[in-house]
Parts: sequence; structure tokens; C-alpha cells
Amino acid sequence: MKKRIGLLYGGKSAEHEVSLSTARAVTQALNFDEYDVFPIYITHEGEWRKGEQLMAPVDTIEQLQFNNASNQELPNNISSFLPSHQEKEEAALDVIFPLLHGPNGEDGTVQGLLEVLNLPYIGNGVLASSAGMDKVVMKQLFAIAGLKQVPFVHFIRKEWQKDQESLIGKMEKDLAWPVFVKPANLGSSVGISKASTREELIAAVEMALKYDRKIIVEQGIKAREVEMGVLGNDTPKCSVPGEIKPLKDFYDYQAKYKDGNTAMIIPADVTEEVEQTMQDNAIKAFKVLDCSGLVRADFFVTDEDEVLINEVNTLPGFTPFSMFPLLWQHTGVNYSELIDQLIELAIERHAEKQ
Ligand code: ADP
Ligand code: MG
Ligand code: MG
Repeated sequence: MKKRIGLLYGGKSAEHEVSLSTARAVTQALNFDEYDVFPIYITHEGEWRKGEQLMAPVDTIEQLQFNNASNQELPNNISSFLPSHQEKEEAALDVIFPLLHGPNGEDGTVQGLLEVLNLPYIGNGVLASSAGMDKVVMKQLFAIAGLKQVPFVHFIRKEWQKDQESLIGKMEKDLAWPVFVKPANLGSSVGISKASTREELIAAVEMALKYDRKIIVEQGIKAREVEMGVLGNDTPKCSVPGEIKPLKDFYDYQAKYKDGNTAMIIPADVTEEVEQTMQDNAIKAFKVLDCSGLVRADFFVTDEDEVLINEVNTLPGFTPFSMFPLLWQHTGVNYSELIDQLIELAIERHAEKQ
């Protein structure tokens, strides 16, 4: 019997358009002899819609937006909107593929909704998703796992408002310039800036506080950025490493999504030893966050070949031109096979929970 795949895409985040491209590419990659595709679109405003349009292969991104009148719109009643896995066989979806990034997408909230509905879904569960979205929690767990990383300081808005001076003092004592100031709970470089002086630091913190009440300030490092894909559940496997070469000062939002001219070098030119360390550390990071399905582990590699973990992304960019699928392509798993494997892993994990 054909498997019924629900594609959940769009969303309120800044990466709405990226999500549309991903949904289109995934649809085109799915073999319609094996799968039926059920599109579930979340508008910019956060309204949930479903429609039949995606059942046929789509040619344009507009087709994925369901602007026509036949769309059903059930924003406040999601449980009746998504058929639960326990419902009668023909109505149930076999697996949901959440193709959403950022808050409300890869932070465990949508994953929690799918858990409540008892629907199998691709990728990380609630715990890994939320721990991976909060850079402070993530880095504290990395520290427990003994992973090398840059020194960091963190605080919440109230602490900054109450005693800015002593926080700055602590940063000057614990970190060296330049530093990177980041909202704890975003991705795609949104709200991140580099600061080389006290004045820049204050401005950077004020800016980051517009996005989040929790801030992380990290010591800046001059290093190459090398990434690795991890795929699996209890016995995860690593891809070849890939390097990103931002053509700008750092890999900011513009460089990631707008310019499109960030160079990717796959496989990355690193020593066997560096690759081995990255593999060990990517698996450690995967395990300490209790990940499942997939993760992209991002590292800094210094000129002295020191390997430091920067972050893991629990729902990495997934267009055919994104790093994660390209890393697997170079490891011998093409885009369609990658999706097939993720579907299998989702079903396997769901079955183990029962
Ligand atoms: P996001 O989750 O938004 O991708 P990152 O922590 O990966 O956030 O930061 C985005 C980019 O900023 C990185 O890819 C890198 O180019 C740069 N960057 C972040 N932290 C540091 C750091 N401590 N030292 C040097 N560059 C950094
Ligand atoms: Mg990230
Ligand atoms: Mg990053």
C-alpha cells in the first residue's frame, strides 16, 4: 500500500519562502508510485490550510500557497484538521514531514503537537528540538558531553536591565574581543552581530534583545566553518564533512538566503584526524541532545586543526542545494533516498514508542 506523507510547510518564520522551495523539491523527489502526498500549508499569518493541489507534481511555488477558494481553513481546530494515526486506516497519515524552520517549527512545539496527535513525524522529537533551538541549553549540554567549544556568557533581559555594568565586566573578564552576540532562540543568523568594542557590544545586546529575552555572548574565533550530516536513530551515521565559505565577514542571514553565493566545498579539505574528531563529536552531540532522524553538526576548525563545535541544527536546510542533502549526496545517498530513509526512521521511532 502507498504511504501517506503529510508535508507541513510555510509557517510564520522568516524562512517561509525557503520552506516553500523545500516542500516543492521534496514533492518532486517523492516517488508517486510509493507515496501519496498531503500538503499542509501554514500561512505567514499562522493559519493552517490543506488542499489537493500538491497531489500532482507542482511546477511553481505559487501552487503550494493554496490561494484559491477551495482551501479549507481551520486555524483553531488542528486536531480535527490532521487525521490522527488512530483514526480509521484510510484517513490516517503514515508520517508527517515538518519542513518548518525557526520558532514554532523546529523548536519542539510542532513536534509536541504531532506527539499529542500520535502521528509519526520525520526528524527530532520534542526534547532534542527544543534543546537544539536554545543555544544556551545546547551549549551547556555540549559541555556535559565534554565537547570543545568557545567560551560564552549568557543572561536574560531583566539581568541586563538591572546590572549592565557587572555583566559587561564579566564578559570582559571571561571573553576576548571580538565577541558574537546572539539571541538564544533563533536560527538563520537573525539578530546576531559581532562586537569589537564596549559600545558595539551594548548596541549588539540591545539589538539581540529585540528578538529574545535570553542572550548568549560568545568569544569570536577565527576559523573555518565545517559541517557534517548525521542520519539515524539509535545508531546514527555521519556524512562526509563540508566547508562553507561565507564571502562576507560571517555567515549572516543575507549570505545564507539572499546572496546565494556562499561557497560550499564538499568534501571539505580537512585531515583524516579532523574528520574523525568531527565524526566522534557529531555523534556525541547527537546523543547528548537525544536526537533522532537527522541533524547537521556545525564546527569551527582552527588553523591549528583544533575542532570546536558551534551548534547542531535539528531541522537543517533541506532544499536539494542545501548543505545537508549535498553532504549525503557526496556520501552516496541521493535526495530521494535520503527522504526514503528519513521516512523509515520516523516510522521506526514511532513504532518503538508504542
Ligand atoms: P545560527 O543558528 O543563526 O546559524 P550561529 O551560531 O551558527 O547561528 O552563527 C551564525 C554565523 O555567525 C556562523 O555560521 C559564523 O559564521 C558566525 N559565528 C557565530 N558564532 C561565532 C563565533 N563564536 N566566532 C566566529 N564566528 C561566529
Ligand atoms: Mg542554527
Ligand atoms: Mg549556524
